[in-house]
Amino acid sequence: MLGKLYIVATPIGNLEDITYRAINILKSVDIIAAEDTRHTLKLLNYYNISKPLISYHRHNEEVKKDLLIEKLKKGENIALVSDAGTPGISDPGEVIVKEAIKENIQIIPIPGACAMINALICSGVDTKEFVFIGFLPQNKKTRKIKLEEIDKSTKTIILYEAPHKINDTLEDLKVILHDRKIVIARELTKIHEEFFRGNIEQAIEYCKNIKGEMVIIIEGAEKVENQNELNKLSLDEHYEYYEKLGYEKKEIIKKISKDRKVNKNEIYMQFTNRK
Ligand code: SAM
Repeated sequence: MLGKLYIVATPIGNLEDITYRAINILKSVDIIAAEDTRHTLKLLNYYNISKPLISYHRHNEEVKKDLLIEKLKKGENIALVSDAGTPGISDPGEVIVKEAIKENIQIIPIPGACAMINALICSGVDTKEFVFIGFLPQNKKTRKIKLEEIDKSTKTIILYEAPHKINDTLEDLKVILHDRKIVIARELTKIHEEFFRGNIEQAIEYCKNIKGEMVIIIEGAEKVENQNELNKLSLDEHYEYYEKLGYEKKEIIKKISKDRKVNKNEIYMQFTNRK
């Protein structure tokens, strides 16, 4: 009989954020495949679990997947865990899952913590429709294309970022998204958990003096039913449209100039006396 592959979510900080079922599965399987075995050992020790560990990370995924599939075919049950949260979400997992499907091996999800979901649900940003991007590409060209995609999306966007790259990423976001509202969910489930809510400029200031793991949630672009309709309005009506949505004068001028593809200063001149 074939073994089963369990994809087990583990905590993203607070060691108590793990389900009873996850603990029982980790206790019952033959092998635990872990992204960083030393890291997972801390969790296993906390719950008095002793199991053979096999390292399974981005750089050995291709080789190790064959070994794990062999073991599954021999009938051994395997739990896959990553360093934090849900495997396969910006973490190793996808490769072995695809391979296991080919071999008709049963794959069982064991739900639990995931940074992006917990950041989103407390963000105050629209949760009805969202796009999870994970880490932005590092390559300059593909990064720019992705940022432009983000700019156009009317859906909430979720990004992951490494602590030492957060400032660069926010600067890049500012160039394309200007003063879009964002939320930074920092150190979720840990002592210094905090939510920052504001625009990108303010987020840059906020991040200058803080450290930690962060999720960036970006409010979707406004849904304009028909851009042409907006541009058919008089300038005053166009201004009032954004004013009613709660935007400040500076932001409104930027938006009108973008909508009408007219220089910002030209628009500004029309509203110099307006508060
Ligand atoms: N698989 C994980 C999950 O389910 O969320 C994500 C792993 S990914 C390699 C690591 C990124 O997730 C970090 O750079 C950060 O953006 C986010 N992250 C992980 N733990 C976090 C936490 N406690 N607070 C905020 N962000 C976190």
